Amino acid sequence: MADEPRIIQVHPQDNVAIVANDRGLPKGAVLPDGLKLLESIPQGHKVALTDIVEGESIIRYGENIGSAAQAIPRGSWVKEALVTLPSPPDLHDLPLCTRVPLLQPPLTGYTFMGYRNEDGSAGIKNILGISTSVQCVAGVLEYAVQRIKAELLPRYPHVEDVIALTHHYGCGVAINAPDAAIPIRTLQNLAIHPNLGGEVLIVGLGCEKLQPTRIVPDAGDDSIVTLQEHAGFAAMAAEIMRAAEERLATLNLRRRVECPVSDLVIGLQCGGSDAFSGVTANPALGVAADLLVRAGATVLFSEVTEVRDAIHLLTPRAANEEVARELIAEMQWYDDYLRRGEADRSANPTPGNKQGGLANVVEKALGSVVKSGSGRIDGVLTHGEKANRRGLLFAATPASDFVCGTLQLASGIHLQVFTTGRGTPYGLALAPVVKVSTRTALQEQWPDLIDIDAGRIATGEATIEDVGWDIFRFILDAASGRKQTWADRHRLRNDLVLFNPAPVT
Ligand code: CA
Repeated sequence: MADEPRIIQVHPQDNVAIVANDRGLPKGAVLPDGLKLLESIPQGHKVALTDIVEGESIIRYGENIGSAAQAIPRGSWVKEALVTLPSPPDLHDLPLCTRVPLLQPPLTGYTFMGYRNEDGSAGIKNILGISTSVQCVAGVLEYAVQRIKAELLPRYPHVEDVIALTHHYGCGVAINAPDAAIPIRTLQNLAIHPNLGGEVLIVGLGCEKLQPTRIVPDAGDDSIVTLQEHAGFAAMAAEIMRAAEERLATLNLRRRVECPVSDLVIGLQCGGSDAFSGVTANPALGVAADLLVRAGATVLFSEVTEVRDAIHLLTPRAANEEVARELIAEMQWYDDYLRRGEADRSANPTPGNKQGGLANVVEKALGSVVKSGSGRIDGVLTHGEKANRRGLLFAATPASDFVCGTLQLASGIHLQVFTTGRGTPYGLALAPVVKVSTRTALQEQWPDLIDIDAGRIATGEATIEDVGWDIFRFILDAASGRKQTWADRHRLRNDLVLFNPAPVT
């Protein structure tokens, strides 16, 4: 059965389908409906289901992903070079709120075990996070954190980790430029991330442009360690350790309590996508997103460049015109940003995406947005803005995995679900990252990195619904500390990478 030639056609109107077999299909292979391949086609790549004439639309997901650069006979491999990139949807001519989904019935009976914070939010980890106002202090802080972990943390067993929130910002930057608001807002919101229990500690240098009080305006003097005020390296480290120990003692008193799912903020991302992303992992994540929203949670989806070409499918789902216009404004901002850098959307996808069968950013976007599920889009967050309401929100971020991760953390995600086809060992220190593979071959190659295999959908072993529920349950288990993601088990932590579109001086 597994070796029978198999293709996946997403939508009845599609004139292409992707090859499902792990090793691809050879020339001459005959599909169950009699279609014979005119050439060998790798896994995930597209086969023409009909004779396509030059200039005709190539249809996948029921949408135009480009026009044929030349005639493509039925049974041919529809290679990237044969698909001419279409124009992106016109932002001035989009349908607004024309198909607002009805609210689905609430999903009750689900909770998780989290940490209650003083401000009313909940955390799913109990971490001491030490913020920094400038990169200059990173070396000293990292030395201190190593010693805190070795000498202090063992005495506070209910604290899960100590992390330095280091970054490249803080000085040598045009701090009053309009776009500087993005990195500054990101640092402000990271310092008060819900998994940090409200215990603020900021290490600054003294002379930097971004002063610690700008990160947390109500941070008292006892929450700030200024290195230039201390007599040498040893004194600096000792002061950081003293301030850290005070906070470890407070965090150590915390215990998990039962919390409603409405306390959760979950981020969705994809990286290293392939042609299966849009038929296995992302639709399953869409089911999980719908379940989370029904259970009262907040769900963020992001990645402007991977939403831009499918924006005409999102503005109809906006809860109201204001939300639709905010969505469009974020698309416009990014169009302008790319234009300033003399780049365009063809800068995405990557060579790996293309090897995985994705012809262009349109095909990637159509497969990407399905992870937002089927629900109403309730709100829009600009870069690094904290989630301010429940439901399904679009949080503007670049698609870059670590930049998106950092910005979603600033928006307050407790956990991120990450779908991948090509595979990436990406992880975050502040939040668990649940890895979902688009193909079983990846899960078999990386059994100690992939948490959930959505490739079972392509082989018929599981339905999209089944895997959606698996993701939903895994999220609640991970949020409760009952299950650890592989990224956390191996302590895989990518850097915090701030999005700074403003000038560096
Ligand atoms: Ca990404």
